[in-house]
Amino acid sequence: MSELIKKVTQLLNDKTVDVFIGYGKGSADRIRAIFVRSAEQTEKLVLNSACTQNLAGYILKQEVKHLGKIGVLANVAALRSMLQLASEFQVKDGEVLALFANPDGTLTEFIDFHSIEVFLTTTDTGITSDEQERIAQLEALTVSERWNFWNKEFEKCIKCYACRAACPMCYCHRCTTDVNQPQWIPVASHERGNLDYHLMRAMHLAGRCVNCGECASACPMDIPLNLLTYQLISPIKTGFGATAGMKADAVYALSTYKPDDKENFII
Ligand code: SF4
Ligand code: SF4
Repeated sequence: MSELIKKVTQLLNDKTVDVFIGYGKGSADRIRAIFVRSAEQTEKLVLNSACTQNLAGYILKQEVKHLGKIGVLANVAALRSMLQLASEFQVKDGEVLALFANPDGTLTEFIDFHSIEVFLTTTDTGITSDEQERIAQLEALTVSERWNFWNKEFEKCIKCYACRAACPMCYCHRCTTDVNQPQWIPVASHERGNLDYHLMRAMHLAGRCVNCGECASACPMDIPLNLLTYQLISPIKTGFGATAGMKADAVYALSTYKPDDKENFII
């Protein structure tokens, strides 16, 4: 922890970064993201086992971007988010500095995408065994049982869009859900509009989701949204050989095609 404070103090003092996104104490016992802009504020940084949020979700927010050069305390999901955002031309090489906290208390500093790519090849980037089990249970259902499961989950959705705000890959300035001429997705929370929103969202995240789980963590209705996009990871890898967030110059699987792409998903 003191190493983190020392490092961030140095980065701010020598103007390597203008703002550092890290974890701090929130209300009650919660941990929240904080935006440190001076050496005096570094004392507010917290680093413990509750610090799991993918902070890369903030690096494209206009309120943060206008503060200047960004540094971020990045976990594996955040490093993958940075590479995925780079592959979508949202972040340039060298634009964001990332610090990774190693289990032994040391820090690894990443100043370019190549070093993140190399690091990720030796790191576990998969989903947890718990999540694997839940996906296996869903895949064991018949198509109509699975349809019913998701419809029941989506019925709970109150359209607060916290899932969208928390997702590092939901960065469109104007989301389809906000367009009202024509109104593609009904604003009110009801059966049909909820289904429209979640199907649209899942397809937009297909092959781009870095399995950080932030969408599900942010949901006040406990909808396990992350399982929907996690289920698409394997078909995208098998069908297109692509895994999100592993290379800065990767081509997004669903935005391109090759003449020999498999077509077995077309019924
Ligand atoms: S869809 Fe959910 S799990 Fe995937 S990147 Fe977005 S927030 Fe993370
Ligand atoms: S966070 Fe949950 S309740 Fe809010 S829009 Fe997303 S799924 Fe619906």
